[in-house]
Amino acid sequence: LAAFTAPYDRPGYALFQAHCQRLIADAELERRHVRQRAVGLAPLGERGWRVETSEGGLEARRVLLALGLSEQPAWPDWARRLRAEGGPVRHVFDSDFHTATLPAWRRAVVFGGGITAAQLALTLSVRQPGAVTLLMPHPARVHQFDSDPGWLGPKCMRAFDAEPSVVARRQMIREARHRGSMPLDVHRDIRRAARYGEIQRLEARVAAAAVTNGDIRLVLDNGDCLTTDSLLLATGLDARRPGGDWLDAAIAAWALPTAPCGYPVVSRALRWARGLYVMGPLAELELGPTARNIAGARKAADRLAQGAERQRAKRQAAA
Ligand SMILES: Cc1cc2nc3c(=O)[nH]c(=O)nc-3n(C[C@H](O)[C@H](O)[C@H](O)COP(=O)(O)OP(=O)(O)OC[C@H]3O[C@@H](n4cnc5c(N)ncnc54)[C@H](O)[C@@H]3O)c2cc1C
Repeated sequence: LAAFTAPYDRPGYALFQAHCQRLIADAELERRHVRQRAVGLAPLGERGWRVETSEGGLEARRVLLALGLSEQPAWPDWARRLRAEGGPVRHVFDSDFHTATLPAWRRAVVFGGGITAAQLALTLSVRQPGAVTLLMPHPARVHQFDSDPGWLGPKCMRAFDAEPSVVARRQMIREARHRGSMPLDVHRDIRRAARYGEIQRLEARVAAAAVTNGDIRLVLDNGDCLTTDSLLLATGLDARRPGGDWLDAAIAAWALPTAPCGYPVVSRALRWARGLYVMGPLAELELGPTARNIAGARKAADRLAQGAERQRAKRQAAA
């Protein structure tokens, strides 16, 4: 179980899963887990907030919004049109997408330039070697991490923390992220797979796309054409603020402060309003580019715990 992978001795998948299961059990999260969709948010004054759900309301003195981007797969416009026409196109981050249950294909095309596209193409090529094309819209961007590890600590965060403008902070986050990148070992794997004919690797953008006789025909910007009966998008997640309509309505109704990019402007303690807190992507203007990752979740948890501790100390001092 305790398998680690070079470089950086990364924990293997099974170990990570076991660790998560252990945390869930220790904190008895199953017992506390309410499975409902939040559809509204309203303040209750001193009593905190009421979260409307599809099956009634939940009231709490403190509410923490920890919405991720996982429900927002990014679809290029041309792919949306193909989907609307009933073409065989799917996004790897669709909730019902499972590689193992993908029906057999004649020619699968994986579209994307980052680690997810590369790993998906490699996985599929094991099932049907030689019948997978990895279509990358840009040359490989090789980076070991999503962003410089300096963002985990003061090396990069000092300047971010000192920056008062949320517009400038957004720009710093944008520049820090290595979007559509892959680590060196994965890059080596796709080069090897292409050399041995297990995958076909192309670098081009899609200039036009159409559904013809149930297949998809892609015209590439280098003039080439590709026909596929299984187009798989690995085009990442849409970076717009998560939450959608109900959060838009709450922001408007309760004057919750947001930056021009739409994301919350929160205090150092991740407080958006009295009794209302954020973490994950919603906290990125405060936590920086790692906010969406596990490291960011740890930073957020530390700040929330420190904030709660300060409030407790204040209450005790006042008593
Ligand atoms: C392919 C891939 C690989 C990654 N690898 C790493 C990695 O190696 N290391 C790392 O640190 N990070 C990695 N990440 C980033 C990863 O997304 C985060 O680390 C982590 O999963 C984020 O967790 P989260 O809880 O913030 O967000 P999510 O996992 O997106 O969870 C948000 C949850 O909120 C729920 N939700 C949303 N709206 C509502 C609503 N209205 N009502 C109720 N529930 C709602 C969603 O259903 C979801 O369950 C990876 C991401 C991807 C896509």
